[in-house]
Amino acid sequence: MGLLKSLSQFLFPEENTCLFCMSHMEGEEGHICNSCSTLIEFAHREIDFHGPYLRKAYYSVIYNRFIKENIHLFKYEGKSYLYKAFGELLLESINIKGLSDKIDMVAFVPMHRRKLAQRGYNQSQLLAQYVSRKLNKPLLKNNIVKVKMTREQSRLGMLERRKNLKGSFKAVGFQDFKDKEILLIDDIITTGATMEEISKVLMEGGAKGVYGLAITSSMKI
Ligand SMILES: [Zn+2]
Repeated sequence: MGLLKSLSQFLFPEENTCLFCMSHMEGEEGHICNSCSTLIEFAHREIDFHGPYLRKAYYSVIYNRFIKENIHLFKYEGKSYLYKAFGELLLESINIKGLSDKIDMVAFVPMHRRKLAQRGYNQSQLLAQYVSRKLNKPLLKNNIVKVKMTREQSRLGMLERRKNLKGSFKAVGFQDFKDKEILLIDDIITTGATMEEISKVLMEGGAKGVYGLAITSSMKI
């Protein structure tokens, strides 16, 4: 394979290629091959937040080694195209939980503009865009803003996280989501603090309800 071909294969894998292992798929549907599928453990589980702002929050698959490694590649190693494979997992949960009938629009956890400039893409936005297209529901694009740069959440404990996040999101253009049911998408739920904080600003801005959905969760439950 020439350099250009292999480079474009890396950036834009072909249709019949498994996005996780890059193997050629013969007669298999979607973006995940049968062998990678065996490494994915579906959960479609609900997380109970006990908070007043989220109607319900779900995650699709168990946080096992395969998922952990691939989320790392998706977020930090430039493999942005993995949104299609992970998006398929989200769609499974959406079907199973009947979420499509309950929501009017799709939203995502925003990134601070400086972090976005560094990374080049927001993985949650890519997932939400994919879901919004597949469900044929509008995407809430510029209405949630990350106003405060926060420290990397994964390094902090539960209480610190909440303090860290307080006031870090803002909702704008309320008329776009007034009285709407919103599906809020993120890649991973670590404590749920981010989802709670965003659903708070959406609800205070006039949303009718917010559902959360992530690929996976590292919460101990
Ligand atoms: Zn594979």
